[in-house]
Amino acid sequence: MYLRQIVRTQFVWTRTAGLCCLHRPCRAERPLCTRDDEVRLAEEAAKKYGSPAPTIFSKILDKTIPADIIYEDDKCLAFRDVNPQAPVHFLVIPRVPIPRISEVKDADAELLGHLLVVAKNVARQESLNEGYRVVINDGKHGAQSVYHLHIHVIGGRQMKWPPG
Ligand code: AMP
Repeated sequence: MYLRQIVRTQFVWTRTAGLCCLHRPCRAERPLCTRDDEVRLAEEAAKKYGSPAPTIFSKILDKTIPADIIYEDDKCLAFRDVNPQAPVHFLVIPRVPIPRISEVKDADAELLGHLLVVAKNVARQESLNEGYRVVINDGKHGAQSVYHLHIHVIGGRQMKWPPG
């Protein structure tokens, strides 16, 4: 009985923290994000940010193209960059299709904080114990190529400054 209570308490805690599911949903759980959820998120994003064009990351989110996903929860996904710039290079993206950092709203503060905490947790999971670089490119001068907000986490080698 006591054990069951502990298990239930921990389950509630991990669900609340959004940390229940590394890699894939827990067994007997509903999927983290259903097709209906993705449609709803896209509609909400359209109201907030206009109608952002779907990107390659939308297809990674709805799993219509493959990606090496290393973390996911109900708010975001982390996957390895297909063109890595260092031994470890992954991206953290929100499920809601926000096009770019310069278009986020004040109300997105909690989500942005969550993305950074996930970036830190996955960096630890990837054993980036000597540090790493966190980058968000924005727009033309920022050399952004995919207009779905993403955080790059790059590590496993010595970085240089200033960046190019
Ligand atoms: P940015 O230039 O900041 O917009 O970064 C976009 C990143 O997405 C680049 O580093 C690309 O290599 C990466 N990328 C593009 N398509 C994919 C994909 N299908 N899977 C993983 N990473 C991708």
